[in-house]
Amino acid sequence: MVPHFDQNQILKIKEFLTVSRRIVITTHHKPDGDAMGSSLALYQYLVGRGHQVTVITPSDYPDFLDWMPGNDNVINFEYHQAKAKQITENAELIFCLDFNTASRVEKFADSILASKALKILIDHHLDPEFFCDYTFSFPTSCATCELVYYFILGIDSPEAITRPVAECLYTGIMTDTGSFRFASMTADTHMVVAALMRAGASNFSIHENIYDNFSLDRTRFLGHCIKEKLVVLPEYKTAYISITKEELKQFNHHSGDTEGIVNFALGIKGIRMAAFFCERDHLIKISFRSKDDFSVKELAKNHFSGGGHRNAAGGRSVDTLDNTITKFLALLPELKKELNPEATQ
Ligand code: 5GP
Ligand code: MN
Repeated sequence: MVPHFDQNQILKIKEFLTVSRRIVITTHHKPDGDAMGSSLALYQYLVGRGHQVTVITPSDYPDFLDWMPGNDNVINFEYHQAKAKQITENAELIFCLDFNTASRVEKFADSILASKALKILIDHHLDPEFFCDYTFSFPTSCATCELVYYFILGIDSPEAITRPVAECLYTGIMTDTGSFRFASMTADTHMVVAALMRAGASNFSIHENIYDNFSLDRTRFLGHCIKEKLVVLPEYKTAYISITKEELKQFNHHSGDTEGIVNFALGIKGIRMAAFFCERDHLIKISFRSKDDFSVKELAKNHFSGGGHRNAAGGRSVDTLDNTITKFLALLPELKKELNPEATQ
């Protein structure tokens, strides 16, 4: 799809950017490829136009995103709170990318909400909260990177998509579409990807940087998850994996190591829903995935304080790992009709 940005608003933003501005770009807690890709693409573009720009992340992010242009200048709020707060307070413009509610930036939220800066949200998650002055929300778009591409074209010429900008945008579209294979990937998005390649994004190098860059520990951790921890419930066409803090420690866990593991459970023939439960310091983080028209969004939203999309959602629990799994299992009989209609006829 080609998103339609309100031209009036775009013109006002373009006007605002005609003089050098102090700008903060932020994204969601535990940023993924789309979060960092959109943030760093916009960073590269705005720096190129003479603005003073800082990307502030609410937390750390996976090592496999470190190669991205501009990464060395990113400030992690968790490690540099005072500096991040001061920069945010002095900012004239704040971009909120790839999230739809202030709570997704966790402890950084207060600083953003308190800042007098003009705030612009660009995002593709459902049901946005309106905490910014401009809200560009397009839930049918596959990635925030796609939206940032159109946003830049809205305020500038095609030459603004320089090679570093293109590399960052390509990364986010690639990671949020499971390498261009999800239903969210449209013919129009393929055209965007083609334009990014023409602008210098190297498809094979970016793919290699992201997907062929795991530590040995992470690869062994994946093996452990599949061999020792995968539980399959054919009756409910469901599979899940749960991981304790001790197991994370045993495999020398780094940020991002658990990403994508849920897909191995979903990839089993006949499985329609997969879940990944991960015990963190103060909560259990849950990833849900599903195939075709079975939606995990409601499950995440109604029972695990989360949300997301039809086929990819996430949530959390402050209960123990065992109790969280018990709660999940207790919900399955209710979902059986939808998950396994043949068995319930
Ligand atoms: P993941 O499983 O990769 O962490 O997240 C999958 C999808 O669910 C993402 O689109 C993400 O935005 C959404 N999601 C994950 N965790 C949460 C959460 O705690 N709250 C909400 N509202 N959405 C979440
Ligand atoms: Mn995204």
